[in-house]
Amino acid sequence: MSMPSIVLRCEKCDDSANTFSLFRNLRYLFKNIDICISKSFGYCIDCDSLGVIENFNNIDYKLEQIQYCSEESINKARSVVSINLTPSMMQSSAAPVQELTSIAYFLAIALKRKGDERCLRCLSRNIIEFDGDMNLHYGLGGCFEGNKRTGFHHLGCGGEYIAYGSENRFFLGRKPTYFNVSESWDLSKA
Ligand SMILES: [Zn+2]
Ligand SMILES: [Zn+2]
Repeated sequence: MSMPSIVLRCEKCDDSANTFSLFRNLRYLFKNIDICISKSFGYCIDCDSLGVIENFNNIDYKLEQIQYCSEESINKARSVVSINLTPSMMQSSAAPVQELTSIAYFLAIALKRKGDERCLRCLSRNIIEFDGDMNLHYGLGGCFEGNKRTGFHHLGCGGEYIAYGSENRFFLGRKPTYFNVSESWDLSKA
């Protein structure tokens, strides 16, 4: 599957970032379990660039997911109570439970690490969440079109980031990059 993307480029210097990087498969390793990192765009003062940062603003969404997965696992448990299970049925009824486990671990990490979000390139804490507007028109060709001033400025340089629709679609590489979460909830590159 290929993905459309948007390029954010500073109008004064060459700094740029592609929204495709938000779809990189970045994962926490926590107690030998791997959990998807929730991320967004942000400006890192140490990288002097836009990039991907940790973001825990989706805690409410994760709580809703817990409710949904709980209901789904109860329904699945009820529907298979009195019949013989094939291996694929067992796998299918275990899926919501695995999802629940993964969300529970994510919440444990998010609640401890919130306030200590890092740049996922250099692990710096000197980051600012990107809050500009990069909504572009999604064209019939399956790419974003046009451009827009985002309202988000490059710190120090002062230039505004402009969002440009990219004609390139990217294929998702699923090879994960891991980050360790230690006993003290600190983050390091695996
Ligand atoms: Zn700049
Ligand atoms: Zn950085």
